[in-house]
Amino acid sequence: MRVRLPERFVSDIGIDLGTANMVVYVRGRGIVLSEPSIIAFDRRDRSVVAVGRAAKAMLGRTPDHIEVIRPLKAGVIANFDAAQMMLRQVVRQAQGRGPRRSRMVIGVPYSITPVEERAVREAATQAGAQAVYLVQEPMAAAVGAGLPIHEPGGHVVVDLGGGTTEVAVISLSGIVHCVSGRTAGDDLNEAIIQYLKKHYNMLVGERRAEEIKLTLGAARPASGEPQPIEVKGSDVVARVPKAIVITADEVREAVHDCLASIVATVRSSLERTPPEIAADMVDSGIVLTGGGALLKGLDEIIHKETHLPVTIAAEPLSCVARGLGSLLGDIDLLERVALAA
Ligand code: ADP
Ligand code: MG
Repeated sequence: MRVRLPERFVSDIGIDLGTANMVVYVRGRGIVLSEPSIIAFDRRDRSVVAVGRAAKAMLGRTPDHIEVIRPLKAGVIANFDAAQMMLRQVVRQAQGRGPRRSRMVIGVPYSITPVEERAVREAATQAGAQAVYLVQEPMAAAVGAGLPIHEPGGHVVVDLGGGTTEVAVISLSGIVHCVSGRTAGDDLNEAIIQYLKKHYNMLVGERRAEEIKLTLGAARPASGEPQPIEVKGSDVVARVPKAIVITADEVREAVHDCLASIVATVRSSLERTPPEIAADMVDSGIVLTGGGALLKGLDEIIHKETHLPVTIAAEPLSCVARGLGSLLGDIDLLERVALAA
């Protein structure tokens, strides 16, 4: 349904509600917010204590009465109340002093179920949306990466998020097919946690593991490899604090199997591509989006395994949100690609 409201009364908001990060675009202002999808509650009265970065900083170090929640799992709402609260806070922040009525475009995983779809629409309506459009994330990512999606040629988008790796083949403004792999950024963090436990008898939290990945993570050894870093955690047995030193090589070993599984997802998707489109891909190649695209050398190993040209989208973390933003500026295209209500 097309809602025609005088423009000055409406704010157009695009929301990428990712498993790891939420990124919000407001038409006329661009990206206004980019924060971890995390919310902290006070257990005693269920009031919101913190959202986003502030809530992430509390992970693993909160007093008993505070509960820190990641409301999304694998891109879909796992905790509806928490997701709704988070969305409401984010929308309020994004609107600022702007109009309270809004048209919202929300990115959703390709494999979303009708029940999950309803949950997202309801959460958006509760957060103040007058009109809600849902767009599949790979489509939004393709638009955000600047791919000519309405042309007949085939394009491959690999969106490397926190909870899922989605590989979509897109042609003529539609998704020809999409494979969603359950190995993604969070699993790399978990693999680092397990590695430290096994090799150093050391326990570290999720946040520390992610920091290690961001500092030392690389899919292939490269010149100018980062220096080893000191990691602090606690001893598995003695439960006393301790510190160890870890190298980029060890982190690579830790995440090796996860990366192999991500590459396997990409390959299995390509194997299912119709020959005509496969032929186009030889020229158009693969575009990487999502935070995982920033892992050094991942583009090279995907290229090595697929023999296709691989490019990393500009600003991969905000690709979906910027794609939603572009769609807000082209309502006809938006209505064509949005999921039917
Ligand atoms: P989602 O869409 O699931 O919210 P994002 O696209 O925001 O996910 O990507 C988040 C993931 O990207 C996290 O697992 C994060 O650790 C990872 N990430 C972010 N920056 C980097 C980086 N420089 N190197 C490797 N991984 C990164
Ligand atoms: Mg995402």
